[in-house]
Amino acid sequence: FNVPIAVNEPVKSYAPGSPERDAVLNAYKEMFNSKVDVPLYINGKDIETGNTRTMSPPHDHQHIVGTYHLAEKSHVEEAIATALEARKTWSQLPWEHRAGIFLKAAELIAGPYRAKINAATMIAQSKTIHQAEIDSACELIDFLRFNVQFMTDIYMDQPESTSDAWNRIEYRPLEGFTYAVTPFNFTAIAGNLPACMALMGNVVVWKPSDSQIYSAKVIMDVFREAGVPDGVINVVFGDPVMITDTVMASPDFSGLHFTGSTHVFKDLWKQIGNNIHNYKTYPRIVGETGGKDFIVAHKSANAKQVATAIVRGAFEFQGQKCSAASRAYIPSNLWEDVKNFVIEDVKSFKMGSPEDMSNFITAVIHEGSFDKLAKYIDGAKADADAEIIVGGNYDKSKGYFIEPTVIVTTNPKYTTMCTELFGPVITIYVYDENQYSETLKLVDETSEYALTGAILSTDRYAIDEATKALQNSAGNFYINDKPTGAVVGQQPFGGARASGTNDKAGSAQNLLRWVSPRMVKETF
Ligand code: GLU
Repeated sequence: FNVPIAVNEPVKSYAPGSPERDAVLNAYKEMFNSKVDVPLYINGKDIETGNTRTMSPPHDHQHIVGTYHLAEKSHVEEAIATALEARKTWSQLPWEHRAGIFLKAAELIAGPYRAKINAATMIAQSKTIHQAEIDSACELIDFLRFNVQFMTDIYMDQPESTSDAWNRIEYRPLEGFTYAVTPFNFTAIAGNLPACMALMGNVVVWKPSDSQIYSAKVIMDVFREAGVPDGVINVVFGDPVMITDTVMASPDFSGLHFTGSTHVFKDLWKQIGNNIHNYKTYPRIVGETGGKDFIVAHKSANAKQVATAIVRGAFEFQGQKCSAASRAYIPSNLWEDVKNFVIEDVKSFKMGSPEDMSNFITAVIHEGSFDKLAKYIDGAKADADAEIIVGGNYDKSKGYFIEPTVIVTTNPKYTTMCTELFGPVITIYVYDENQYSETLKLVDETSEYALTGAILSTDRYAIDEATKALQNSAGNFYINDKPTGAVVGQQPFGGARASGTNDKAGSAQNLLRWVSPRMVKETF
């Protein structure tokens, strides 16, 4: 299993005057000012259904950058049939060739497609150039490279043999076809979900989020150019209920790879359960869903470090990360300093369109998200047990802009301490510095989700206590850091409880879900 050693793609700085900065900004301008038409992609062919919807950037919602085609039921059925046909050859293709395709995809993104995929992510998902670079270039490249290594780790895991019994495990692809349902918030996740199933020899029907069509198209262009054969990954857009119903009605449905909201994932799980008697195999179900991620500071923590964790954890990427810090527990002795640092930092942020590189924060994804956030912000303005200490304004006249907002509450179970908002809003509860153990208990009890969390302290006993008390409250637990920014190959990512099945993205454990091992014993 000699494969290239995976290394993390270095993040480009896009310094003023640099050619890479010009390349992305030129690609952005060109794509923003023209109209793209995105077809379905089935069996290696572009399918124009004629039934289209327009696409607009969240930061300029009246501006149209193109259209995309919506699938009918027959298109989804065709995608399934074509995938099953492609499986006959793809599942037999030696792993080196599958690996070669996805390693080439990584290099295409690192090189000729870098500006385009970043620009598409800036347009479709309103990410700043830096956010796009970290997500759609580097993280996707890392997933593609590291997956190849994880794959070989799996293949190398073999049982003992003896002189008269040669035991070996063959890691077969799942029988049937798989289904990828991907979110808007990370282009990298959208690319990784279908890619890791295909890498393991599976065939895929992929339904990207309606809010991520442009960057999904670029991913598919990359996969095509890298040599993914016809029918191996098929892309359908449109009515999620119809698409899922059609996929799950097939007896050959064999796996769901999902990132998105908790309630959708639970509905899909239920639907799979209801159909279980129709399937030829038990479908694999892998999901990464919501989070209500916490920061706990101990009285020994450094106030500046706590403020930085809050601000970066909550507001980078507009807070639209499953891992984003959205509740914080700050001891009374640190509060005055933390508060001042946080206010000072947040006031220095510029908000606006992503192509203006001085902006730190841009628009949230769509009107539904904007309205939800505005509603909770208004609630905090009206409620006696909440106060907004910075931010709190919003404006959707041109784009869906929500100011980074910090709510402070006297009620540790206040609605925004418990509800996932998925935007640039964090709620802080100030606890009596002598009530640390009680606070840890409270954090755990209010962790319906368990994705990420952070403890900040200079006291090792306090860190140890939090590590134990919060053992099940987070799948990714950070000591003296913000709870975001997991890097592929360094921090495999995922959570339990309502946050998902915790089959860590960026790990062999995840890829293992997409194979069905056959044990072969040979005697002599
Ligand atoms: N992997 C990302 C992080 O650690 C979050 C991914 C997500 O939002 O699903 O920040």
